Amino acid sequence: MKNNLTRIAQEYGTPLYVYDGDVIVQKYQDFKNAFNVKNLKIHFAAKALTNLSILKLFKEMGAGLDCVSIEEIKLGLKAGFDPEDIIFTPNGVSIEEYKEAINIGCKITIDNISVLEKIGLNFPESPIFIRVNPHLMAGGHNNISVGHIDSKFGISIHQIPIVLRLTKKYNIKVEGIHVHTGSDIVEADIFERVANLIFTIADQFEDITSIDFGSGFKIKYKENDLCTEIEKIGSRFSELFNNYCEKRKKDLTLRFEPGKFLVSESGSFLTDVNVIKQTTACTFVAVNSGFNHLIRPMFYNSYHKIRNISNPNGEKKMYSVVGYICESDTFADDRILNEVREKDILLFENAGAYCFSMASNYNSRLKPAEVLILKGKDYLIRERETMEDLLSNQKVLDIKNIYNQVDKTKS
Ligand SMILES: *Cc1c(COP(=O)(O)O)cnc(C)c1O
Repeated sequence: MKNNLTRIAQEYGTPLYVYDGDVIVQKYQDFKNAFNVKNLKIHFAAKALTNLSILKLFKEMGAGLDCVSIEEIKLGLKAGFDPEDIIFTPNGVSIEEYKEAINIGCKITIDNISVLEKIGLNFPESPIFIRVNPHLMAGGHNNISVGHIDSKFGISIHQIPIVLRLTKKYNIKVEGIHVHTGSDIVEADIFERVANLIFTIADQFEDITSIDFGSGFKIKYKENDLCTEIEKIGSRFSELFNNYCEKRKKDLTLRFEPGKFLVSESGSFLTDVNVIKQTTACTFVAVNSGFNHLIRPMFYNSYHKIRNISNPNGEKKMYSVVGYICESDTFADDRILNEVREKDILLFENAGAYCFSMASNYNSRLKPAEVLILKGKDYLIRERETMEDLLSNQKVLDIKNIYNQVDKTKS
């Protein structure tokens, strides 16, 4: 793979995102095989990586899609997904956007009482999912809080009585309960607590056919990181879910919406070393990219392992890896790498999720190309942007004329 990536960097140029499709297939299988329930649907969270070829790969494997905007839904349709396999889980969008998604035939998640009332008034016949905020704090485990009380997401469990009142008043059909905490959850017992709480809420909804537990699955970024043990969680969860189905005397569908878990590890971001700068404090390595292409280290303080694939046996030295943007854009401080020389290729690991999909044109830089490796062959799945792309929506005014017009009203 390593030599292959050096060749791919040379062939397609850098900066470049490369996804190993075989890794994506493996992660999807691992996830699916971890659960032992009658009806399981895995909705890939599109916002993690929205390239159409990636979406088509998920479609081919039998996944559904989780979309947070009407644009993601349209990409999903383009990739061939059936509307009913698309679940729309937005936050803070207009009723018009819900309407469009309803007309397309997607599953709709409501996370706000005000929206629920509007749905009741306008589309009482469309079935919905209720997104619940469980306000669960995982005691004793700092940093692991689940749908905390001041989160903007979901309808508070304390407002379920209002939900019940409104659904009765407008005769709205609730087809599922949804919970997505957004947190990195690694321990089976936290999942278990969320599950048990959600079951008590689901009890109050007669007609539900699904429960959607969103995501929160964590993957390794560093050697010693804790990560979700999917097999362990899957088997425990399946047991709880099967018991609940038995209690309800019906086969509910268990849904999840993993993003990061499915694609993060498949991705490599390849950059060229532009310059090496020795200061009195440290050695800077500046690559031909920045937070315009990979924002996670600056935005979330995320750790991405970096490797010098041009000099894998070079002497180990300490570097600060930075970008070429005119802002502080530090990818990594005090990082040990094999000796880095100008023109070497640095590889950033875990670049599959929330990397390209968060890229921008800041500093008027062009977005990178994307390559997919599938069954051992590499394919270009997005061209590198061009200057025309940067200019395509600009309306260029005749400023000279407008600026020099004499304003008659002021004389
Ligand atoms: C972002 C998101 C996900 C995916 O989260 P990951 O951490 O990438 O697995 C799932 N469901 C909803 C509603 C989301 O907003």
